Order: sequence, then structure tokens, then C-alpha cells
Amino acid sequence: ILIPFLGLVLAFWFYSARENFKPEMLKGKRVIVTGASTGIGEQMAYHLARMGSHILITARTEAKLQKVVERCLELGAASARYVSGTMEDMAFAEHVVKEAETSLGGLDMLILNHVGTSYFGYFNGDVGHVRKLLEINFLSYVAMTTSALPMLKASEGSIVVVSSMAGKVGFPFTVPYSATKFALDGFFSSLRQEFSIQSVNVSITLCILGFIDTESALRAAAEVLLVPPAPREECALEILRAGALRRRELYYRYGSTRLPLLLRDWAAELLDYLVRSRYRLDGLKRN
Ligand code: NDP
Repeated sequence: ILIPFLGLVLAFWFYSARENFKPEMLKGKRVIVTGASTGIGEQMAYHLARMGSHILITARTEAKLQKVVERCLELGAASARYVSGTMEDMAFAEHVVKEAETSLGGLDMLILNHVGTSYFGYFNGDVGHVRKLLEINFLSYVAMTTSALPMLKASEGSIVVVSSMAGKVGFPFTVPYSATKFALDGFFSSLRQEFSIQSVNVSITLCILGFIDTESALRAAAEVLLVPPAPREECALEILRAGALRRRELYYRYGSTRLPLLLRDWAAELLDYLVRSRYRLDGLKRN
């Protein structure tokens, strides 16, 4: 009886000792958000603005970025600016970080969130597309992290990497996308280990998201996925919370059980079956 009781007391102590999130934690912080012209990235920019951060956003579409910056200033951002360009180009990825150095004088949080367009359907054998997507969704994340590291070490800052359950478990119909998200887990989980060995005080938060109600995700998967999407505003706030609290990973809308991961390691075929049963195949557009 005593051992389970002590376990419960310890678990309660551990959870109550964990710091709670306060919006002031991000007040005055210098933050880059990539992929912030739409979707979850746009919502993160608005939350950061309400919290009084200095925001630098990026994506390709200048007109949308301009509007997001205007809205951020209305909402109370300490400052807001954008750089437009494509993350297919590693020099551009590095340029965004340089811009933080020149215009903000440093960086506290790097939020890597952008994602290149892919298809939703059976793998079509296009190796060129896989390479391009790896450049946008993975290599540019590596390039930005590398360039930002001196500033993040100086500020003892944070890296937030937006990934997906498709980067932890094999999902059908998103083969190239899943490959890029698995790559992020490998790179950033290994890097976190090295930071720990070298006492580098830069946190890495990997965000494992489920289906979120952004326009692009609804367009791609609403007809096929048999699960309701979660709201992007709440998702964006949970990502910022996890980053500010320097959490190792965030599982958004998977609850505390993280059941898919338990099954992945102990009952992989059952998980594969459950994953497949969440799709309505007649809704799938043929490539
Ligand atoms: P959106 O499609 O809404 O936004 C993607 C962003 O990336 C846009 O700002 C887009 O702007 C930008 N982008 C696209 N291509 C490029 C490029 N070549 N270079 C630079 N920027 C680019 O995505 P979501 O908000 O839905 O997703 C955000 C993150 O959350 C992604 O990492 C995604 O994988 C992850 N996620 C989302 C889920 C969902 O259901 N929504 C589920 C699981 C994970 P522009 O076109 O102007 O360049």
C-alpha cells in the first residue's frame, strides 16, 4: 500500500511544482514565427502580440504578412515586422535569422512552423517532390537553428518545432510529409541530448499536433478524416505555453495518455489498424 501511495504523493508534488504559464513570460521577448501568414502560425503571432512580444514573421506571401503585422500592432505587439521569401532557399532561411539580429538585437524564441505544400493521397513516386519537401520542412529548420544558435545561447532561449503525429506514427496518404516530420524528431531529439551533455541552456520543444482546423488542412483532409479538427487559436496558445515553459514535447489534443505512442511500442499492428480505420477512403481524391 505504501509504495503506490508514495508514488501518488510524488506525482502530485511533481505536477504542482511545475511552473504555470503566465502571458508575462513572453512580454518583451524577441520571437521569430515562420509560416505566419496563415493558419496556426498566424494565430501564434496574434497571441504573441497580445502578450507584448517583439515579433518577426515570415512566409512567401507579402500581402498576407503585411496584414498580419498590422493586426499584431493593433493587438499590442511591442514591435512587429516581416520578411517574405521561400524556405526552399537556405540562404533565405539564414537571412530571416540575420534580420532578427539587426532589427531586434537578438532572439529569445525561434518558432519553426512553416510547411511546404504537398498532396493528400497515395504516394505517387515523385522523388523530386520528396527532396523539395525535405528542403522546406526539414533542412530550412536546420539552417535557421544553426544560424540562430549563437543568439539563443546568449539569451538562454528556446526553439519550438511544430510537428505532427504523422512524425511519430506511420499515417497513410501523407508519405512525403510524414518523412519530413520524422526527420525533425531525429534531428531535434538528438540535438537536445547534445545540449544537455554540453550544458547548453537552450530548450527544444517538439509539438506533436493532431488534426487542426486550418484552411489548408480542412481542404486536404476534411472529406477523408473521420475525426473532428481542433481549433487553431487554442492550438497556437498551447504551442506558446509549451515553448515558454521549456517543455520537451507537446501533444495537442492527445490527452495525457498519449495512447498512440504506447500502442506504437507495444502493439504496432493494432495501432496501424486503428489509424487506418480513421479514414473514409471514398472521400480520397485519386492522384
Ligand atoms: P498552413 O498551410 O495554414 O500554413 C503554412 C504556412 O507556411 C503559411 O504561412 C505558408 O505561407 C508558409 N509556407 C508554405 N510554403 C512555404 C515556403 N516554401 N517557404 C516559406 N513559407 C512557406 O499550415 P498549418 O497552419 O495548418 O500548419 C502549421 C504547422 O502545423 C505545420 O508545420 C504543420 O505540419 C503542422 N501541423 C498541422 C496540422 C493541421 O491539421 N493543420 C496537423 C499536424 C501538424 P505562404 O504560402 O505565404 O508561403
